[in-house]
Amino acid sequence: MKRFFPWLAGALFVLTLTGCAGLKPTKPEAVGFPQIEASAVLSHVKVLASDEYEGRAPGTKGEELSVTYIVGQFQKAGLKPGNSDGTYFQKVPLIGITADPSAVLTFKKGSKEQKLKFKDDFVAWTKRVTETVSVDQAELVFAGYGVQAAEFNWDDYKGADLKGKVMVVLVGDPPVPDPADPTELDPKAFGGKAMTYYGRWTYKYEMGAKMGAAGVLIVHETEPAGYPFAVVQSKVTEQFDLVTPDKNMGRVAVEGWITLDQAKKLFALAGQDWDALKKSALSRDFKPVPLGTNASMTLHNTLRTVDSRNVVGKLEGSDPRLKDEYILYTSHWDHFGIGPEINGDKIYHGAVDNATGIGGLIELARAFARLPSPAKRSMLFVATTAEEQGLLGSQFYAESPIYPLAKTLAVINMDALNVHGRTRDITIVGLGNSDLDDYAMQVAAEQGRVIKPDPTPEKGSFYRSDHFPFAKQGVPALASGAGIDYVGREPDYGKKLREQFTANDYHKPSDNVRPDWDLAGAVEDLQYYWMVGYRIAEAEKFPEWKPGTEFKATRERQLKAAGKP
Ligand SMILES: [Zn+2]
Repeated sequence: MKRFFPWLAGALFVLTLTGCAGLKPTKPEAVGFPQIEASAVLSHVKVLASDEYEGRAPGTKGEELSVTYIVGQFQKAGLKPGNSDGTYFQKVPLIGITADPSAVLTFKKGSKEQKLKFKDDFVAWTKRVTETVSVDQAELVFAGYGVQAAEFNWDDYKGADLKGKVMVVLVGDPPVPDPADPTELDPKAFGGKAMTYYGRWTYKYEMGAKMGAAGVLIVHETEPAGYPFAVVQSKVTEQFDLVTPDKNMGRVAVEGWITLDQAKKLFALAGQDWDALKKSALSRDFKPVPLGTNASMTLHNTLRTVDSRNVVGKLEGSDPRLKDEYILYTSHWDHFGIGPEINGDKIYHGAVDNATGIGGLIELARAFARLPSPAKRSMLFVATTAEEQGLLGSQFYAESPIYPLAKTLAVINMDALNVHGRTRDITIVGLGNSDLDDYAMQVAAEQGRVIKPDPTPEKGSFYRSDHFPFAKQGVPALASGAGIDYVGREPDYGKKLREQFTANDYHKPSDNVRPDWDLAGAVEDLQYYWMVGYRIAEAEKFPEWKPGTEFKATRERQLKAAGKP
């Protein structure tokens, strides 16, 4: 197929669209791909990832500098204040909790003891807003994958009483073998190879709370978790959460992870065989197994409240009837701040993750603002806070939206742009979920590219960035990522790059700007993001979730309640 590079021709120009009529904008002449400058994106990244910005942790000097920079850039790009109170900010109240690293976790059976060292052997925290939490000789119970999923006829709990106990659980979805081919995963159970929400660590802690447990310890295993223990260890710094009216007292007292080595030792201490018990958790007949062993730990917290901020800029739509309807672009500005030193650096620069996304967001906004005739619907650009703390800024917006979600057509999220050159493809996490994928395919095809599914669905990426809280509330969400098929490289080059990034740089100080970066691919991706959003803003109908997706019913209820047909 012929490749098409409209941006080489300079400013905006017009091209005639062909193809899927249903997605065709209603204007007689369609707008072409915008010009976006790689150098402009890079200049934002260099500022945001610089030492001066101290890794952009919420509630620090890094936040102050970051949000000030983004507001300044939104203004320059021509965006208006996005909040209905006339400001560029949506305040996000957070509680910051730092656990004392001298904590020791002790497992005890009779006179035998196993002591675990904070950070080396385990990481634990509490989300309860209180200065001290303890578990005191609480009984340890192995609860398999800790999953209760009626739709898959799965219940790891079987009515067991876990009140006041400490659950030890496996990370990931139950990897149920396919009855037709036991070397493969059953595609009908827990998404097959793809991770569902049941596999996420947040789900395990939520279930512990539901069971009334005192604590939940997840056994870390690199493959099902999707990242090494070093990533878990980065959680020894301040942890943030939104504050609930009960000060998070409904959550388990202690949430944590233990290393695989320590888990094996614990099972040996309990007189159990790790491999055998792990295997037993693969059965629908699994029942929680008391380990006859106690856990004790006290955590002393330092607490502080922080008014963090989502930065929100707006471009008003041109159609008087449709301008109170919105397309949202989201991208998180935050990263981990200053943390444990690795290879002589303790500033977690978050250059790829996600200074690139913010650089892209600013340049997308500029490209929209340059349109001689704005799109019919309004565009909202939301730079979210505290994504790295569990998608908190986006959760806050999705639960307390500035503009009604029933009037929000779609969310397009950008997290970590491609910095390695042009690709023949672009990936979509959760491909097949909504009509947004049809727009995406159409736009990619016009670029001479193809859409591919997430190459690592087992990592559960759909649940790991800011589009998810919106999807959970019903709003169709597009989560694209870098392609894997790089121009001029061997076919699996992109996969290798991802693996290397996860192993070496993901959530580490070394995620920094590199001299060999090539943002040509990021520019093509941004043009794609731009065009998808533009088409939705011009379309006659709202994009919908595809039948059978877990968010469709919520959306339909929401639109119905708002009086939409
Ligand atoms: Zn990110």
